Amino acid sequence: MKKKLSIIIPAFNEEKNISHLVAELNKALNSTGYDYEYIFVNDGSKDNTLNEIKLQAEIQPNVFYIELSKNFGKDYALKAGIDMANGDAIITMDADLQHPPHLLPQMLKYWEEGYDIVYTYREDANPHVSGFQKLASKLFYKGINAISDITLENGISDFRLLDQKVVNELKQIDEYEIFFRGMVKWVGFLQIGIPYTPAARHTGEASYSFFKLAKLAIGSIMAFSVRPLYIATGLGLFFSLSALLYIPYIFISYFYGYDNLSGWASLIATVAFFGGLQLLVLGIIGSYLGKIFLQTKHRPNYIIRSTNLLKAKNDSVRV
Ligand code: UDP
Ligand code: MG
Repeated sequence: MKKKLSIIIPAFNEEKNISHLVAELNKALNSTGYDYEYIFVNDGSKDNTLNEIKLQAEIQPNVFYIELSKNFGKDYALKAGIDMANGDAIITMDADLQHPPHLLPQMLKYWEEGYDIVYTYREDANPHVSGFQKLASKLFYKGINAISDITLENGISDFRLLDQKVVNELKQIDEYEIFFRGMVKWVGFLQIGIPYTPAARHTGEASYSFFKLAKLAIGSIMAFSVRPLYIATGLGLFFSLSALLYIPYIFISYFYGYDNLSGWASLIATVAFFGGLQLLVLGIIGSYLGKIFLQTKHRPNYIIRSTNLLKAKNDSVRV
């Protein structure tokens, strides 16, 4: 029997890219000798994306859609697709053609050689992102690597192949906040990376704003590390111990008759400084507490409004 590939594509306002992507993927996969299916996850698009996918599904019986009830974010859309896919391998990729389909044969080759995860990472010289974006991305990967127990390549992307056994593990993970790139590294297995140069977006704009990205970055770090909590404790300890050094100074200046009032300004400065430090530490602790709160509510990662995948028996399934 032929092995089956499930290609999972999260799509948010990608109406002009769908048909083009399907055509490109057909071209790349036709000659590989695998069965394959495309599972588009419509992540609450405001444009005609869903209809475009349905149109493709009418033309090609191996095109499927999962319509989420609103915009949940890319990682959640990916989770929705992965939970429903049953291929021998799963490939996740963007809808905007930034992930070059011509890498697919190489990915499949590694898979046949026995690798469980074939991931891709952007090569440094990427002509399509600004200098600021490059710097921000570099800082993010440096930060998350320094502070957590996983190591992510600079520019690691969501274009990857996952063997079924990896997918079965990923399906088990029940976390409120999902950072897929981290999770895929964390599960282990036999992994190999392929560098690539991303193409320009086929049409449309990248949909992540600066604040959305910053939130994502902080969230990802917090999802993979409690070390910021230890940093908070360390900072608190360091500054309170240093503050103790002030006591001998007060005694000495008293006995030698220095004018203590002259220390007023530095005193206020110190008080303000430690006030700020305490707020910072409380903030870090509070953020983790908030995450625990959200996790304990056990909300679903996503809600499906409709799908043409046979596995989903009725509409609006809660997963
Ligand atoms: N995407 C999504 N939900 C979102 C934002 C993006 O499903 O809330 C999809 C989008 O349609 C695309 C992929 O995620 O297929 C990558 O998005 P984008 O091109 O905006 O990001 P970038 O290329 O900058 O990583
Ligand atoms: Mg993109």
